Amino acid sequence: MIDLALSDEHRQLAATIRDFAARELAPGVPEADRSATPDPELFAKLASLGLPGICYPQRYGGAGLDWIALGLACEELEYVDASCRTALSVHAGLCATGIYQWGTEEQRQRLLRPLAEGRRQGCFGLTEPDAGSDVQALRTQAVREGDAYRLRGQKVWISMGDFADYLLVFATTDPARGGHGMSAFLVERALAGPGLRTEPMKGKYGLRASDTAVVYLDDALVPAANRIGEEGEGFKVAMSCLDSGRFCVASGAAGTVRACLDMSVAYARQRHVQGQEIGRLQLVQQMIAGMSRDYDIARLLWLRAGWLKNSGQRSSRESALAKWVNTEAARRAADDALQVHGATGFSEECPAARYLRNSRATLIYEGTRELQTVLAAEYALGYRSDRPVRRALPPWPDEEPAVAAGDVAVAASG
Ligand SMILES: Cc1cc2nc3c(=O)[nH]c(=O)nc-3n(C[C@H](O)[C@H](O)[C@H](O)COP(=O)(O)OP(=O)(O)OC[C@H]3O[C@@H](n4cnc5c(N)ncnc54)[C@H](O)[C@@H]3O)c2cc1C
Repeated sequence: MIDLALSDEHRQLAATIRDFAARELAPGVPEADRSATPDPELFAKLASLGLPGICYPQRYGGAGLDWIALGLACEELEYVDASCRTALSVHAGLCATGIYQWGTEEQRQRLLRPLAEGRRQGCFGLTEPDAGSDVQALRTQAVREGDAYRLRGQKVWISMGDFADYLLVFATTDPARGGHGMSAFLVERALAGPGLRTEPMKGKYGLRASDTAVVYLDDALVPAANRIGEEGEGFKVAMSCLDSGRFCVASGAAGTVRACLDMSVAYARQRHVQGQEIGRLQLVQQMIAGMSRDYDIARLLWLRAGWLKNSGQRSSRESALAKWVNTEAARRAADDALQVHGATGFSEECPAARYLRNSRATLIYEGTRELQTVLAAEYALGYRSDRPVRRALPPWPDEEPAVAAGDVAVAASG
């Protein structure tokens, strides 16, 4: 039976991350956004709390907690700013999941462990200039030469690409086979040679406190031992990574809705017009009621997807649905929060405009709003169903956690 109740450990973990994010991250976000300068210490700060490996077993260097713990972390980080959540979700949700789910035991020890321990930062390189929603159109090629592959191509819009030590990159090993010819590679910056170069993309509309990179692959070297899954399994690897990535985006979006609700309630209780709090005005109440409704829906949807992941079941439909509904809710909440604040909301003094700009990114990445709509329709119409994948996520607990959730965070932050 589905059980969405949070344990005391989960609640304690959320409170610890909330306090940490308010103290350590929030003060720097407005300036990072204004100057479009990502915090170079962000990942180290997240690592100081044990977050990079929060949902991975301790035998792979993780904290031994579960997917709900990762969801709570995403929600609390995005409550402060979506850029903080993006750093965690591309690392833990997109990059590390691929190795955990599709890597061999040797790869989990050699490649997942440094990611989970926060000693290496990961990113996810799928999108290309001519291959976004149409993933199967990708052109980056991987050519085998003895014990290595040479990667040639270009990736764009890669979150944290300039900071990442490990880049999970998708390339074709057999262009004639389309999607069936795609393979996944963990590119180690330290081993890739001069053929790997990254550079920041400037002038973004939102998520300005997050790094977004172009990745140039001009004969970048990858040991054959770093191919994740078999040749030709890259599309399946990418899609299962996106299941976890969308879960992170969905749980993060709940944080935006809650942040917008909290700032709107606070303002509506202190701003007076015609001698009364604007919170007494029905049309203002309508906006606040919508945020309150959407927060509960958003929270329930990501919890359901997390519960499925914990029990080792496929969550493709539920993660995609949560991502679609929650990111739309976040955009609506940010727009309404700005409106509740009147002209104040239109200035940099109020964070609502930043939340609105950030929320637009979440309607685009990890499957656009339109793609999620198509997926929802196809599931409903029976054109699509979730078959078991060759490498399912292990049910949680994959091992007994040696420490409670609260202890991990508290010990690491102390
Ligand atoms: C801030 C940011 C960070 C990102 N981070 C990453 C990252 O870390 N790694 C990574 O690999 N990528 C990343 N991306 C890229 C992102 O995943 C792509 O932008 C996204 O998949 C859409 O691709 P596209 O931009 O090429 O749009 P297109 O695919 O060209 O889509 C254009 C329009 O057509 C619509 N459309 C396309 N196909 C369909 C369809 N079948 N049915 C209906 N409508 C359709 C789309 O919804 C959209 O409105 C990031 C993007 C942004 C903005």
